[in-house]
Amino acid sequence: MRSLARLAAAGVLGAALVAAGCNGGPPHETAPAEPPASPEARLEGLTALDARVASVSWTLAKANADLCPVSRQRAGWTLHSASQYGAELRPLAERRFGLEGDLPGILVAPSDSPAAKAGLAPGDLIVAVNGQALAAGAGGAGESYDGLKANIAVVDGALSRGPAQLTVRRDGADRTVELRPVLACAYDTQVDISDTPRSRFDGRHVFITNTMAELARNDDELAFALGHELAHGVLEHRTQPDVTGVKGASNWAISMRRGLSLSAEADADKMGVYLVTRAGFDPYQGIEFLSRLEEANPLLRSPQVNMGGIYEGTSTRRRALQPTLTEVTARKADGRALIP
Ligand SMILES: [Zn+2]
Repeated sequence: MRSLARLAAAGVLGAALVAAGCNGGPPHETAPAEPPASPEARLEGLTALDARVASVSWTLAKANADLCPVSRQRAGWTLHSASQYGAELRPLAERRFGLEGDLPGILVAPSDSPAAKAGLAPGDLIVAVNGQALAAGAGGAGESYDGLKANIAVVDGALSRGPAQLTVRRDGADRTVELRPVLACAYDTQVDISDTPRSRFDGRHVFITNTMAELARNDDELAFALGHELAHGVLEHRTQPDVTGVKGASNWAISMRRGLSLSAEADADKMGVYLVTRAGFDPYQGIEFLSRLEEANPLLRSPQVNMGGIYEGTSTRRRALQPTLTEVTARKADGRALIP
């Protein structure tokens, strides 16, 4: 095993070196990168992964609203804008999703979400809320999330007051739909692009890298990974949001320095089992995600201490969860409340 410090000095790991002290564990040498896919294939791949993560995240957020310390009225959608894409993908995203400047477009509307129930689907563009036009922005060439963020704040503000009338553009024609939000955990989930599988919670958002999400072989496993991070929210393990906000892909270092204790991680594993079960996922299937982590990073077979983080071995995590799995199964069978 080459030392992490040497890898860092060689620039092999770069930002990936600072893997968060949460799911994923320490970084390791990754296989050589595959040849880059075409922009079209990249956009389709990212969109499909976003849809999968968004759908599982929404199911978890809705089912556990009563346990989350912060909840709000939500539509369940994931929004995007032309302006958040770089020069290469932007024209494709505009064509594929009918995007325009900073206006929020539907990227994902999970099937059981208020957005889907209002008839919204990928390709729809939100142009006004309760008659108030949203700002399309100046249309600069640079990649920016700010305009979309401001528009989302306007839409969320309206939803916080209850049902809202949305003016939606599809194929150039505008129509008005009523969206009836429901209470869900307030935390958004963001997929970050990275060669290192990892996930974390910063007090306001769950972050998961594409390589972490891609490890999950089914929704139960993905729910286990996301449920662990949501559990940090339920347990109020992190109260300080990242200084970089929602585009905080750069802040893995700060997460790691704040590193949670092993007992906090064990508590999040246990609470995570409750959260996924409450949301209808199978925790016995979900726990297999720990095997995927170990396959992706054999260092996780044993406890690891490095770079200021401490990581439990996956077999220890799995063993520690057995009583919780038994407990949840018994509670379910008896019709008792699924509250730890
Ligand atoms: Zn964790």
